[in-house]
This record gives sequence, structure tokens and C-alpha cells, in this order.
Amino acid sequence: MTISWAELIEHISACQACGLRAGCHRVVPGEGDPNARLMFIGEGPGADEDRLGRPFVGRAGELLTKMIHSIGMERTNTYICNVVKCRPPHNRTPLPEEMDACKGFLRAQVALVRPKIIVLLGSTAGKAVLGDQFRVTRDRGRWVEKKGVWFMPTYHPSALLRDETLKRPAWEDFKAVREKIRELSGE
Ligand code: SF4
Repeated sequence: MTISWAELIEHISACQACGLRAGCHRVVPGEGDPNARLMFIGEGPGADEDRLGRPFVGRAGELLTKMIHSIGMERTNTYICNVVKCRPPHNRTPLPEEMDACKGFLRAQVALVRPKIIVLLGSTAGKAVLGDQFRVTRDRGRWVEKKGVWFMPTYHPSALLRDETLKRPAWEDFKAVREKIRELSGE
């Protein structure tokens, strides 16, 4: 039986399956178009996201929104979420057991949205979806197709804010996403 969006959000909001829930203010399930062709997966909520209960709303979120605009789309036409739905303390990388505890929710979100393209933002998202061998500096920019879904790994917007030199390769990755959207739409 397929779970509904309302049931899924209820489950995520009530979840205490890992230690992250005890240390965060709000659970951040994700947001956007439930039928989006394009989905973004990041690592986990930061301070602004934890405060507002929404994904990618801080400086990294502003940059992501600009990048979405740069490929001719609106944020509201995409679905945006994270590997873990609760903020790790001091923005540390989620532990493998925390990602494991949360991955059923991510799978359910992907199953409900059924996107054609998923952009994996950063190392944690890449590892969570493509496996532990994933290395963002080596593997970004290369399409991976699984069961009819196209995955594009790229840098996390936070990394672009820390290191300006990563903006150009990230822009190349977003251009590839724009081309893939056109290709899949038959434009
Ligand atoms: Fe549950 Fe995920 Fe939050 Fe852990 S991070 S408590 S698994 S919703």
C-alpha cells in the first residue's frame, strides 16, 4: 500500500527514530511540488531551516533558489528535501546510523514525487543515494541513471559559499540539468 503525503508528513513530524530529534527545534520534512519533475536532495537542516521548519532557507538556500532560476525554473516547481530531516548539532555531518534511520522517509518522498531528475547536493546526499564509494570532487557532473531516474551529483550550495572556485563547475552541472530537462521533455 502506498503511503499518502499527509501520512508521510505525519510520520516524519512524529519521528524520534534517531538522536537528532532530541537536539533540534523543528523537523524539516521538505517542500515543493508533489509532482515535480526535478527534485533536490541536500544533507540536513541548518540553523535557519531548524527555526522555520523549511529546507534551504538560509544563505545556501538563497543560492540554490538563484541557481534554480538560472536554469529557467521556479523553486515551487521543484521538490526540495534533505537526507536527514532533523538538524545535526553544530551542522555536523549526519552519522551513518542517523542516515539509515531516516532513509525510509527519503525513499517514500522519491516514490511519491516520482521525479525524472534528482540533483544530489553534496557528498552526504551523494553517498546516501549512490553509495559509500561516492566522492563529490570525482563524481560530480556525471549522470547516473537508476530505474528511469536521472541523478546529477554536484556541490552543496554551502560549499560554493565557502569556495568561490566551485561555482563554475556547479554551474556546468546545472546547465547539464537544464539540457536533460529539455531532452526528457522532447524540446
Ligand atoms: Fe526521525 Fe529522521 Fe529526525 Fe532521525 S533525523 S528523528 S530518523 S526524522
